[in-house]
Amino acid sequence: MSSNFPLSKDELSSLIKKFPTPFYLYDEKGIRDNMKYFTDCFKNFHAFCEHFAVKALPNPYILKILADEGCGTDCSSLPELILSDMAGIKGEKVMFTSNETPAEEFVYAYEHGNIINLDDYTHIDFLKNALGGKFPELICFRYNPGPLKGGNAIIGVPEEAKYGLTREQLFDAYKKARDYGAKRFALHTMVASNELNPDYFVDTAKMLFEICVELKQKLDIRIEFVDLGGGIGIPYKPDQKKVDLEYVSNSIRKVYDELIVPAGLDPLDIHWECGRPITGPYGWLVSTAIHEKHIYREYIGLDSCMADLMRPGMYGAYHEVTVSGKENAPKDHVYDVVGSLCENCDKFAVQRPLPKIDIGDYVIIHDAGAHGRAMGFNYNAKLRAGEILMRPDGSFRQIRRRETIDDLFATLDLNGVKDFN
Ligand SMILES: *Cc1c(COP(=O)(O)O)cnc(C)c1O
Repeated sequence: MSSNFPLSKDELSSLIKKFPTPFYLYDEKGIRDNMKYFTDCFKNFHAFCEHFAVKALPNPYILKILADEGCGTDCSSLPELILSDMAGIKGEKVMFTSNETPAEEFVYAYEHGNIINLDDYTHIDFLKNALGGKFPELICFRYNPGPLKGGNAIIGVPEEAKYGLTREQLFDAYKKARDYGAKRFALHTMVASNELNPDYFVDTAKMLFEICVELKQKLDIRIEFVDLGGGIGIPYKPDQKKVDLEYVSNSIRKVYDELIVPAGLDPLDIHWECGRPITGPYGWLVSTAIHEKHIYREYIGLDSCMADLMRPGMYGAYHEVTVSGKENAPKDHVYDVVGSLCENCDKFAVQRPLPKIDIGDYVIIHDAGAHGRAMGFNYNAKLRAGEILMRPDGSFRQIRRRETIDDLFATLDLNGVKDFN
C-alpha cells in the first residue's frame, strides 16, 4: 500500500529520541493543503464557511492553522468555545452546536457573538430565560429528518437520534424565534457520520434547500445559510475511495440552481462543520512494539492502548497499520496488534496481515488525526499520549505533552486522604 506517513525510519528514530513513544504526529502542510482544497471545491457558492468540528482535534495550535486557512469552528461545549477564542476564532466564525446545553454555555456563546444552533423547540424559551429575556439576532436550528433519511453505523438512524427538531416543530420554531426578536436565520442538519457516498450529501443539501423554500413561502422567513453538518467520511481502508468533493459541490450547485435561485433565495451561503475529512488523514499514532506473544493467535503489544485511540475498540473501526522501515516488506504474518488495557477489545488491528514485527519496531496507526487523541480516556489509570506537530519546514513542535501521573491525580484531594478514616 502507499503510505502518506511523512517520515523515514531514520527521521522517525531521531524524533523518538527527543519525544518517546507513544505520541500523535500531525502534518501541518498536509492539513493546510487539504483545507485549501476543501475551500476551493466550494468556490462556486456565494459564500462558504467550514466550521471545523473542534471535538475532532481540540488543540488550539491546529485551530490556529485552520483559522489561517479561513476556517471557523463548530463547538459542542464551553471549553471548546474557549479553545476557539484562544485560537483567535471569534464571533460568527464560531458555531455552537450543542445539545442538553447548560444555561451558562448559551450565555458565553451569546456574549461572544457566536452562532447559536438550537437542538430543540423548548430551547427557544430556555435560551431566552438564560439570556435574561434577550434573544440573539441570528439563530440557527438543527433539523432531524427522522424517517425521511436513512442513517449509518456510527450515527445510527435519525429517527432514533436524540438530536434536532422534527420538520413540523421547525416551522413553529422559526416563527417563535422571530417573535422573540430574531432577524437572521440559519438551518442546520447532521445526519451522517463517516459517510463515503457523495450523493448522500447532495440529498442532504436538497432536503435543506426544500425547507428554505417552504420557510420563505409559508412564513416569509429567509434563511441566510444552510449548514450541511459534518459526516464526510475518509477512506480508512485501502480499498475505499475518497469522497469526490468537486462532484459534491457541483451537484449541490445544480440543485441550488433548480431550487434556490428560482425561489429568489440566492444568495444562500453554504456552511459545513467537518472534522474527520479535514485533519483525519494527517494524523498518526506512533507507538513502539514492546511485546510479542504466541498463544492461540500471534500478538504484538504496543506501548499505547485504547485509551489513546478508542475507535477500533469502541466500534470495530479499521485503521491502517504500518511498520516504519517495513512499508514494502511482504505481509507474511498475521497479528492482533494490541494495547495494554485490561479489556479484550483493546485491539488496534485484528487478524491483520503485516510484515514480521520485531520488538522495538515503530508501529504507525494511520488516519488518527480526527477523533483520535480527543476521544481518549483514563480508564486503567492510563496516561494519554502527547501531540507533535510537523511544521512545513520539517521542524517539530510538541503541541501537547504526554499526561503525567500528577495530571491523573490532579482532581483528587491528596491531602484529605491522610486524615480520612
Ligand atoms: C461530530 C460532529 C461533527 C463532525 O463530524 P466529522 O465526522 O468529524 O466530520 C460536526 N457536527 C456535529 C454536530 C457533530 O456532532
